[in-house]
Amino acid sequence: MEQRETVFDKIIRRELPAEIVYEDDDTLAFLDINPNNMGHTLVIPKIPSRNMLDISPDSWTSLMRTLQRIAPAIMRAVGAEGLNIMMNNEPVAGQIVMHTHIHLIPRFSDDGYTHWPGHPYREGEMHAVGEKIRSMLR
Ligand code: 5GP
Repeated sequence: MEQRETVFDKIIRRELPAEIVYEDDDTLAFLDINPNNMGHTLVIPKIPSRNMLDISPDSWTSLMRTLQRIAPAIMRAVGAEGLNIMMNNEPVAGQIVMHTHIHLIPRFSDDGYTHWPGHPYREGEMHAVGEKIRSMLR
C-alpha cells in the first residue's frame, strides 16, 4: 500500500515539536501526546512504513532493540510496576497514524485498566482455525 506522509514524519524532521526521550540512527521515541498513563511512549522507525505488516525485518529489529533499551528507563522514571507493549495494525485494529509505531504503556496496580475479555472457541473451532493458519504458512 502507498505510504503517505504523517505527523510522525514531521516529528522525525523536527517540523513538529515532540518530547523526544531517545533517538538513534534508525529509531525515535517520544511521549504520546494523549497518554493512557504517565510516561506512555511511542517508538517509531525513521524509515517510513505503515505498520508491522509491511515494515522490513531490519527496521523491525531496530525497533525491538530500542524497546528493550528504553522500557526499563521509562518504568524507573515514572515508578511503574509493569508495562504493556501495544501495537495497532490497520484502522480496524485502532491504528490512526499510518506510520509504524509501538506503544509502551507503563502500568500501575491502581490504574484501573483491565485485560480484554476472552471468548472461548466452540467445539472443533480451535483446531479448524489452527489448521487454516498452518495452511497459510505452507
Ligand atoms: P494509534 O491509534 O495510531 O496506534 O495511535 C496513535 C497515537 O499517536 C495516539 O496515542 C496519539 O495520542 C498519538 N499522537 C497522534 N498525534 C501525535 C502528535 O502529534 N504528537 C504526539 N506526541 N503523539 C501523537
